[in-house]
Amino acid sequence: MRVNDIMTQLEAKHPGESEYLQAVREVLVSIEDVYNQHPEFEKAGIIERIVEPDRVFTFRVPWVDDHGKVQVNIGYRVQFNGAIGPYKGGIRFHSSVTLSSLKFLGFEQTFKNALTTLPMGGGKGGSDFSTRGRSQAEIMRFCQAFVMELWRNIGPDTDVPAGDIGVGGREVGYMFGMYKKLAREHTGTFTGKGMSFGGSRLRPEATGFGALYFVDKMCATHQISLIGKTIAVSGFGNVAWGAVTKATELGARVVTISGPDGYVYDEEGINTQEKIDYMLELRNSGNDVVEPYVERFPNAVFHPGRKPWECKVDIALPCAIQNELNLEDARRLKANGVILVAEVSNMGCTAEAVDFFLENELLFAPGKAVNAGGVACSGLEMTQNAMHISWSNEEVDRWLHQIMSDIHEQCVVHGQNGEYVNYVKGANIAGFMKVADAMMAQGVV
Ligand code: GLU
Repeated sequence: MRVNDIMTQLEAKHPGESEYLQAVREVLVSIEDVYNQHPEFEKAGIIERIVEPDRVFTFRVPWVDDHGKVQVNIGYRVQFNGAIGPYKGGIRFHSSVTLSSLKFLGFEQTFKNALTTLPMGGGKGGSDFSTRGRSQAEIMRFCQAFVMELWRNIGPDTDVPAGDIGVGGREVGYMFGMYKKLAREHTGTFTGKGMSFGGSRLRPEATGFGALYFVDKMCATHQISLIGKTIAVSGFGNVAWGAVTKATELGARVVTISGPDGYVYDEEGINTQEKIDYMLELRNSGNDVVEPYVERFPNAVFHPGRKPWECKVDIALPCAIQNELNLEDARRLKANGVILVAEVSNMGCTAEAVDFFLENELLFAPGKAVNAGGVACSGLEMTQNAMHISWSNEEVDRWLHQIMSDIHEQCVVHGQNGEYVNYVKGANIAGFMKVADAMMAQGVV
């Protein structure tokens, strides 16, 4: 395989799909050497097959707003790769959603899910619909309209959607309700469900908690203690909330959160139950701004229109959206003495920022490893639904710990290079080898 040749072909086939092409290139560059040691992969066209989704559904989502006006959005479901299990991955409702972004997310999801050690293929879906400023009734009608089209293509052993940006417990509830009505079955077709109808304990916290278990492992492997470390977190949604909660519990001090309006710097730390809960209150207000934090906690400072990566911190955790940390941010973090950066958002760093971290041998871990706790917990929800039982907090947390620790181990096994662990390479090789083996065993399909 020659990465540049494959990328040239792919760029010609999918012009302008920049996020998808970025995600593919990152994986191909890191697996190139390993791949070239397997001539059987080349003969079976594994790369050519693995970079294309199995199939993509695109559909119109018409719905009626509170003023009686018809609105039309676009809906998608990308069933990326089903080699190791039913398609699995979230639904994103955000104005930035395009086919390119969902293809990048579905591609990443395929390897992420392989890393969890659970039998899940990769998928992703969503819409350019935004819940911002929408009433509860509008959100419900939109979710129902979305599922009215999608329901025939999903199912507990086919494709199991969940939440992502803009889709939390409320939206999953509405989508599940309509699915159940149309399919006439009460199965684990969605994960991230409410606790009263088949949801798993710890699912809302799992991405953030899992990320911190991973970061804790990275630290321990490199003789670093998390206690007393300062952390910059971006975002203020469900994932950021889980990360802040667990980081605080592990003795670190989180000093920032951010929104589209700017970031909040809280020198004392976002470390009390009141402050952490207030993040959720801000999120649930539906206004998508963090500025009110400083009215409630006047010791904190709001920096309008800026990103938290300009702060002097030990650890940076992007928890918001793709490409939210660029080369300039990476340089500034390093100049300010950062020791560890872990992507909690999917592809939170630009390709140039990732290259910078790796070239400088900074401790850096990619989203597909760090944030896999969310989908891992979804996998556990599927298991509980299939068994018609519900596990306790302790049980789910024990699994989550184990899975994150196994992912870390796989990264070290495949990414160790002398003293330095290249977590990007480690995660990509481990995930790829598992999917490639399954594809080889199943023939040309
Ligand atoms: N959206 C999450 C992710 O990016 C979770 C997906 C799921 O639970 O299926 O992994």
